[in-house]
Amino acid sequence: MEWDFRNIDDEGELNLKKFFWKCTACGTCRSGYTYGPPPTFRVICPQGNKFGYQGYYGSKGKAALARWMTGCSYLKDEKFEYTPEFLHTLYSCTECGGCQNQCMIDFKPHIIDTIEAMRAKAVQDGKGPLKEHHVLVMSMKNNDNPYTGPRAIRAKWMKKIDNDSKLKDINKESAPVLYYAGCTPAYNAPVRDLALSTVRVFDKIGLNYGALGKNEVCCGSTVLRIGERDQFERVASKNLEQFKMLHDERGVDTIVTSCAGCYRAFVEDYPHSDAYKECMDGIKVMHTSELLYEKFKNGEWEPTKEVKMKVTYHDPCHLGRHLKDWIIDWDGSKQWKGSYLDCIDRGVFEAPRELIKAIPGIEFEEMKRSRNNSFCCGSGGGIKTAFPDWAAENASLRVEEAIDTGAEMIISCCPFCHANLNDGAKVIKSECKTMDLIELLDQAL
Ligand code: SF4
Ligand code: SF4
Repeated sequence: MEWDFRNIDDEGELNLKKFFWKCTACGTCRSGYTYGPPPTFRVICPQGNKFGYQGYYGSKGKAALARWMTGCSYLKDEKFEYTPEFLHTLYSCTECGGCQNQCMIDFKPHIIDTIEAMRAKAVQDGKGPLKEHHVLVMSMKNNDNPYTGPRAIRAKWMKKIDNDSKLKDINKESAPVLYYAGCTPAYNAPVRDLALSTVRVFDKIGLNYGALGKNEVCCGSTVLRIGERDQFERVASKNLEQFKMLHDERGVDTIVTSCAGCYRAFVEDYPHSDAYKECMDGIKVMHTSELLYEKFKNGEWEPTKEVKMKVTYHDPCHLGRHLKDWIIDWDGSKQWKGSYLDCIDRGVFEAPRELIKAIPGIEFEEMKRSRNNSFCCGSGGGIKTAFPDWAAENASLRVEEAIDTGAEMIISCCPFCHANLNDGAKVIKSECKTMDLIELLDQAL
């Protein structure tokens, strides 16, 4: 299976260089703007907020460093080298895409690709990722998960499933829906309940579904985000082959994920494989919130039990602003070659909110930063592994914003955000907790 990720030093008329050279260093990407009325702006870049926007942090800094990395000499007199400062800057970005949402020039669609291509080059040159990531990478090599847990315990969470559950072992039985639980609920004990809640909710709504148990393999998102493309391609190829087998032999037509990171990997990263079309033919990928909202809209179920709670909702970056179809004038027929024209927003923003609001007794209040202008929890892009204290500190800013709404609970749709926001609450000794949407729905059924 071949993969076609972009490289920082690719040649050709419309390579990444063409786009990162277009950054004007205007600094618009520092803040999330709502043009109003009344106009507002709020910090949107966790990295810039922590380390300072001047110098090389923020996306304009990445553009400048990409120029240096590919041979521009005006930034420094000497040749490019992997200095500790360069690596710190490159790897202390959460890849949240906040900057990408703000930028309005031709660099916009290519910002995350540029950061990831720089990281991939650092790995290729033996300089990346950071030493703090090495355990994660070794775990992926040895265990097919980033959490250092042995393969044998991937299915341990399933031992707590009720005996009368309808969950099928899809290795042996057919079902149209594969529940892909992901590594975080499997290996990260504080968020394990969300997989159990998912099973209870799917049972309650009468879904015909199965899971892979110990045969599930990591989606590869964590290693791809830090530039370890070989490891990503290895596990992603296994998954694509397994998904095809499940479609052909077990009748799977829908893969449902609990995790925003898995979802993003399946819909945004897996299409870079030349086997994607063949392996995913007849299969659609949905986040649990999308599947449940679709069935709710069709009248197939509804939350019936009252849950008296004031809540707010945190948009995971990988379930929100990362999901875009960019419209680029590649041939120059509309403006000029490579000009950014527009985007189709595929962010899963409304399904979780509509489900929350459908629960009797729930009071819902938005945070000041939401949807495409959401503030990242701070755990993505390898940050939770390499900078755990800062990840929690950043999450505490988001928790404070949630507290401002009067909410007693933050609802999220990503186990990674969920765990980090709870760590953030501990930093500021807050009683405000985070739970997954599926846990809330479990209470409401
Ligand atoms: S990335 Fe875009 S918004 Fe940010 S400084 Fe460059 S041109 Fe301006
Ligand atoms: S991806 Fe997020 S953390 Fe990285 S530069 Fe952009 S806004 Fe800042």
